[in-house]
Amino acid sequence: MENIQWSDLSFGYIKTDYNVRCYYSNGKWGALETSSSELLNLHIAATCLHYGQEAFEGLKAFRGKDGKIRIFRMRENALRMQSSCRGILMAELPVEKFEEAVLQAVRMNERFVPPYESGASLYIRPLLIGTSAQVGVNASKEYLFVVFVTPVGPYFKEGFKTTPVGIFREYDRAAPHGTGTYKIGGNYAASLVAGEIAHEKGYSAVLYLDAREKKYIDECGPANFFGIKNNTYITPESTSILPSITNKSLIQLAEAIGLKVERRKIPLEELATLEEAGMCGTAAVISPIQRVDDVETGLSYVFSKDGKPGAICQKLYDKLRAIQYGNEPDTFGWTTEV
Ligand SMILES: *Cc1c(COP(=O)(O)O)cnc(C)c1O
Repeated sequence: MENIQWSDLSFGYIKTDYNVRCYYSNGKWGALETSSSELLNLHIAATCLHYGQEAFEGLKAFRGKDGKIRIFRMRENALRMQSSCRGILMAELPVEKFEEAVLQAVRMNERFVPPYESGASLYIRPLLIGTSAQVGVNASKEYLFVVFVTPVGPYFKEGFKTTPVGIFREYDRAAPHGTGTYKIGGNYAASLVAGEIAHEKGYSAVLYLDAREKKYIDECGPANFFGIKNNTYITPESTSILPSITNKSLIQLAEAIGLKVERRKIPLEELATLEEAGMCGTAAVISPIQRVDDVETGLSYVFSKDGKPGAICQKLYDKLRAIQYGNEPDTFGWTTEV
């Protein structure tokens, strides 16, 4: 611990001092507990292991130039986890309990919040699982909520830059009325094969089309899609994408800097008319897209010829990061000081 090279950290797991846990049984949530163990004691027939009753969240805490630690949009994550719980029939955790657990996990591991200069941050991973032993397909009666944290390095080690993404029509991440709008492990399992193929071919992510017609842009593996044209921020309307909190924040920032915002279906061909495109999520804030290759048709949509991000992507990225690190006033009330 004493010699962590903060700016060399990747997006991996490093052991910290404590995690926070909360158990649900007999119809109610218990008190928060802290643990220094990285292990769970689980029944072999727990529903999370067999029937996928697992939801998670991802958010970050940042140490500012002023030394203060700020957590970004924690309440939004609490609400989204409740939505995921409703989606796969798990007990909902009260928002206040979620917030208390996150705050406690950050406070108890304060020495792992990277220094401002490093560009690194503390990743916070809440998860909620069904734990009752059940062999028949039924929702669990007992649940466990855990929050652990781990320091992660700056996403763009060599500076903010673009990457290519690929469309692979033979894979879907989620169905139109399936579980795509919930942040659950099952969606990720369903995306691993396509993700692996994309990485082997040199793409940073898969850009999924809508599963029904393969006509509209849906989202990228673990990030929402947006495009910029005619001074407008455009992001897909879909029943199978995960409501990204980063996207929601970028929409507000886009409006604040005078862009129009459209949330609507984006036909694949419209890519040819976009001036900039990007993926957005907690990990990178924005990961600007260099080009989209439609692997089946051989068509390519290029957004950056020199590999540099577009001016609007850069501006939105800088603004959001400035709020997260406390360099600009948080006029939206997005951050919680620890
Ligand atoms: C978590 C996630 C995102 C990004 O959401 P943020 O709240 O911005 O981190 C986008 N798509 C999927 C599928 C996700 O799981």
